Amino acid sequence: MHHKRFLLACLFLLSILLTACAPNMQVVDGPRIANSQNDLIHQLDVEKIYATAEELTKEPRVAGTESEKQAATFLTEQLEDYGYEVDVQPFTFERYVMPVKTDLQVAGSDDTFSPAPFQYSVSGTVTGELIGSGYGLKKNYDGIDVQGKIVVVTVNRTYFYELVLEASKAGAAAILVHFPGDDPINTWTLGEHSEDYIPALAISHEDYTKLAKNIGNQATVTIEGARVEQADSQNISVTKQPTAEQDTSSDIVIIGAHYDSVELAPGASDNASGTSVALELARMFKDVVTTKELRILFFGAEEEGLYGSEKYVSAMTQDEIKRSVAMFNLDMVGSADAGELAIQTVDGMDNAVTVSASQAYETLNGNSLSTDFGGRSDHVPFHEAGIDAALFVYAPLEEWYHQPEDTMDKLSKDRLLQVAKIVAISTLELTLPADSKE
Ligand SMILES: [Zn+2]
Repeated sequence: MHHKRFLLACLFLLSILLTACAPNMQVVDGPRIANSQNDLIHQLDVEKIYATAEELTKEPRVAGTESEKQAATFLTEQLEDYGYEVDVQPFTFERYVMPVKTDLQVAGSDDTFSPAPFQYSVSGTVTGELIGSGYGLKKNYDGIDVQGKIVVVTVNRTYFYELVLEASKAGAAAILVHFPGDDPINTWTLGEHSEDYIPALAISHEDYTKLAKNIGNQATVTIEGARVEQADSQNISVTKQPTAEQDTSSDIVIIGAHYDSVELAPGASDNASGTSVALELARMFKDVVTTKELRILFFGAEEEGLYGSEKYVSAMTQDEIKRSVAMFNLDMVGSADAGELAIQTVDGMDNAVTVSASQAYETLNGNSLSTDFGGRSDHVPFHEAGIDAALFVYAPLEEWYHQPEDTMDKLSKDRLLQVAKIVAISTLELTLPADSKE
């Protein structure tokens, strides 16, 4: 799951998720499941899913690093073991390296502060006068001189990168972005690198309260070690051609998951969970008779900005895009501590994926699952290309999202298996010959 670029949309999403949670359901194989489906989903082995996740979470799999590469090699070997011919699609991207040190000191104050960098914060050490600038919009700089100063602004329905650029344009030397409310400071993102940024740090409401007493005083903002570098990553994929003797079509059904993680996070939930489920689906589907082409994709560099899925989609031909009828994106599908299962589309509308998945959910649980809004992951480039795509995720997200605590002990085997079954049944519905459906 990639960090939201915009606070506004993020809060909107959160409010939807908080109000749209489905009630807790147990997965049961009821008599409503057709025998053909039942036979196949019973081949899903949650212990294999779990073992894959354990292997992947031995260390963080940051895009562009050796550990991401090792994860790609592991996936390749597993898929080859299952009898697939594996495609490796290399690509390069601009990797942002987070600062090694961030600090805020106020002259003459004993207070201590715990500011956090944004993803794409630039390095720098700046000493200057603290000055408030409201919500940090263009008009908030009218009539005040912030030249060489450190501006303090409050987030309110604005893109974070706009706050940094407005302060920069007004001549400020650094910016402190205050997040009102009691939430701990997360690692928010400025979306992409810009030469025009000035050093920017996020501060909590608690720090802001202390800082407000010091407006007019000298302060020093320090960000060290942040930089942008060229890095290499790769997508791993397998294609299974239709194997049925009749009723085959040229349609393509896609299952995808990103296998990279953020720095310091073993990424059990995000996204060893989705990767492991996708790998198990690849194993299960290997010898199933199918009428459509099935592609199972493992994306690199999702956390850095959906680079892998964007690369994959950009390399698809118009014909392949036209033939692609469904894309199932699995991202954070096993956390015991997140909310309930959600199916999310970029426009919040139902499509071929949500309809088949909701039917599968109903088959398993006896009630349906509604569709929510949700971007932030690898289904987005497919949606933008016009392919029916949806994200499977447990939401609201767990507390240790993108934290070092995203470890194996937080994964629920029931939850992993529930998503594996839903995607298996949906994919079967879309790819099984008509005469084998009961
Ligand atoms: Zn993530």
